[in-house]
Amino acid sequence: MVDRREFLRLSAITSAAALAGCTSASDKVQQDEPALPVRVLNKPVVVSTWDFGKAANTAAWSILAGNGNALDAVEAGARVPEEDPTNQSVGLGGRPDRDGHVTLDACIMDAKGRCGSVAALEHIVHAISVARAVMEKTPHVMLAGDGALQFALANGFQKEDLLTGQSRKEWEEWLKTAHYAPVVNIENQTPGNSKDHDTIGILALDTAGDLGGACTTSGMAYKLHGRVGDSPIIGAGLFVDNEVGGATSTGVGEEVIRIAGSHTVVELMRQGRTPEEACRMALERSVRRDPAYAKTIQVGFLALRRDGAIGAYALQKGFTYAVKTGGREEVVAAKHIF
Ligand code: ASP
Repeated sequence: MVDRREFLRLSAITSAAALAGCTSASDKVQQDEPALPVRVLNKPVVVSTWDFGKAANTAAWSILAGNGNALDAVEAGARVPEEDPTNQSVGLGGRPDRDGHVTLDACIMDAKGRCGSVAALEHIVHAISVARAVMEKTPHVMLAGDGALQFALANGFQKEDLLTGQSRKEWEEWLKTAHYAPVVNIENQTPGNSKDHDTIGILALDTAGDLGGACTTSGMAYKLHGRVGDSPIIGAGLFVDNEVGGATSTGVGEEVIRIAGSHTVVELMRQGRTPEEACRMALERSVRRDPAYAKTIQVGFLALRRDGAIGAYALQKGFTYAVKTGGREEVVAAKHIF
């Protein structure tokens, strides 16, 4: 149902679009409504999903604090869990698919709306840097599977075995039942504890006021070979619009894709919702779509608005995110619907 406020807003956009249609091509393109500032934090700022986002933020901060740009910062941040073999959710040491292959999904997006992505990439630790190379060196947005590997090798990335002893051991144990059942909040479990989700989503706002975002993961543990989640899909696992803000997601990627999650969060912020409201309202679409299913899975969104305001929300208790800015460094527990 469109309420009165929404109706007036839509009417205004429609009239503006109609007017724009009557003007010459050289006229300025009509902008959507900018988000209303609510709380302005000091720039720069960086936020990342889960407790392990704290270490990623530290790496990103070393760039942001020196007036570096948000794109470099989020890439540097994402590389930290990627190269950590004890993090069984991202990059090296990530949990494999059901056939024992560690397959990585990652994407990156900058303030100009440029983006790059890799899906089902094997043997390369820094999937996020391959995604950036796709963005900067090709006319494409996304490369997948063998093609992504071929591109990475041609661009100087080293081929490595990403399956660590611990992840192999757990996978062999899993094979005894071979029952695929995503575990809520598995991302935040202690490494080696036989449970792990995946995914770091990281968003930064630099001193120039530009946003950047990155998302990288080994995907759902024991997924079907070839399965691609939300994390490498621009608009699902990550979306950045410098006019509004950025958003990223973690949890069951299939559900995030169904609601075009991160793009939905950004569009809700564009309509004047706070980052926290936007994250909650996106999740409510999943709840309305299939309430019984939504109760059984975890999805979390994290958003950073262009004025530095931060918000997050999850379906279930247990989703955390890490924040770092001039006067603040902490891990925060997100609110949740159930
Ligand atoms: N979103 C990731 C995927 O579906 C998994 C996760 O965040 O745990 O691949």
